Amino acid sequence: MADDRFHVYDTTLRDGAQQEGLNLTVADKLAVARHLDGLGVGFIEGGWPGANPKDTEFFRRARTELDLRHAQLAAFGATRRAGVKAADDPLVAALRESGAPVVTLVAKSHDRHVELALRTTLEENLAMIRDTVSHLRAEGQRVFLDAEHFFDGYISNPAYALEVLRVAAEAGASVIALCDTNGGMLPDELADVVHAAVQTSARIGIHCHDDTGCAVANSLAAVKAGATHVQGCANGYGERSGNANLFTVVANLQLKRGFDLVPREALADMTRIAHAITEVTNVTPNSHAPYVGVSAFAHKAGLHASAIKVDPNLYQHIDPAQVGNDMRMLVSDMAGRASVELKGRELGYELGPDISRELVNRVKEMESRGYTFEAADASFELLLRDTVAGERRSHFQVESWRVIVERARGGEVVSEATVKLYAKGERIVATGEGNGPVNALDRAVRLGLERLYPELAEVELIDFKVRILEGTHGTDAVTRVLITSSDAAGEWSTVGVDENIIEASWQALEQAVTYGLLRAGHTA
Ligand SMILES: [Zn+2]
Repeated sequence: MADDRFHVYDTTLRDGAQQEGLNLTVADKLAVARHLDGLGVGFIEGGWPGANPKDTEFFRRARTELDLRHAQLAAFGATRRAGVKAADDPLVAALRESGAPVVTLVAKSHDRHVELALRTTLEENLAMIRDTVSHLRAEGQRVFLDAEHFFDGYISNPAYALEVLRVAAEAGASVIALCDTNGGMLPDELADVVHAAVQTSARIGIHCHDDTGCAVANSLAAVKAGATHVQGCANGYGERSGNANLFTVVANLQLKRGFDLVPREALADMTRIAHAITEVTNVTPNSHAPYVGVSAFAHKAGLHASAIKVDPNLYQHIDPAQVGNDMRMLVSDMAGRASVELKGRELGYELGPDISRELVNRVKEMESRGYTFEAADASFELLLRDTVAGERRSHFQVESWRVIVERARGGEVVSEATVKLYAKGERIVATGEGNGPVNALDRAVRLGLERLYPELAEVELIDFKVRILEGTHGTDAVTRVLITSSDAAGEWSTVGVDENIIEASWQALEQAVTYGLLRAGHTA
């Protein structure tokens, strides 16, 4: 179990699930909890049992289906209603019966919210906190308190906001998390308020939203001011601009401030965990995410690349392996020989000076025509292999292709493609139909080759991007097509460029199939 001196408290399953478009089933929530436990967080807030049937079920299933190694589950809920006993409030009963070792109670700490939203007196609000905390403590649960709108409340009525902390701590709440519920704070003023709260001698936590783009900075400022419990969400999920990104907070505190929050080997698995969670949530991963984004350690400039070859640490703030990420070289027209050699090494090739010089020349020439290799690693690798081999090598040769696009009598637009190929000494003629010309070409190629290469059945075209590039140097505009394909083991991207969109697509498609066959172990 995690050390109690500093808490890493995840609220993805409760506050993070408020994100627009994010919808988690109970099975999804269990899967996310397992990933978070794998990272080594101390607490996982599972939801609001009693108020939400799905969350009640989560806690019920968690008892038998979750085998947590690091984390403890926390059930979230409100203090008792005004005018009833905590022991008689059915929502408090649901928290008690959740089986969670920790209950996190949300309570009002802003005087105007008590009067206008809760519609009770300031005294009754304090009594609700006192009764509910002491009742749950007496029933054997550990209690944390989320002081809602604390910062706005402190600015409006500091004496009352601090009284809420004192009452909760006296009643037995072991942590009071100060919530920047509206997310409007900036680090300096937030730190002043945390500092004042710490003086009450209650143990202080922090819960930040990212409406000013400062959720992570605010969390760090709060820790510096004395908070010893930090809340956040996986990948910064949450409503509006999201919650503090727990991964960024943990990496910053552990790698920059020397906190010992999660096991080192778990931190070294953080990039994978962050992406595994996006698979469950079905939210596209942010490639620019700090520490765990695909681009977080990607370098572009050729000028830098020569120095990176000498000492990678000159151009990165940490060793990416510490968070399970990788340094990546982007091959671009700014690149020189050094970045091409580095990229070659990343792909497993040691390139001699002649080969790398020739490859740089080919890359530069192709980039001047509109190719880009930054987003098309597979095309770059094929180019590299061809340069090393001294010839264009492929699993099949193309005699010709043809596409017909027809608006049929019913108004439906259909496409039909015919390809003529040579492979393994055979001439192949195949026809495919599709909802568009590229789809039809893709089907025709596979239909033609699948008998000889059954693995192609696994290869899928998953993304297709078209961009019109303005003509330069007196040439016409050209079309650039990027195709992303996948098989059971992963994804790859290829690029094609031509004045004609179908020809550009064909180039990307031909490379996609060639690369897919290489991945399946077929040498050309
Ligand atoms: Zn929140």
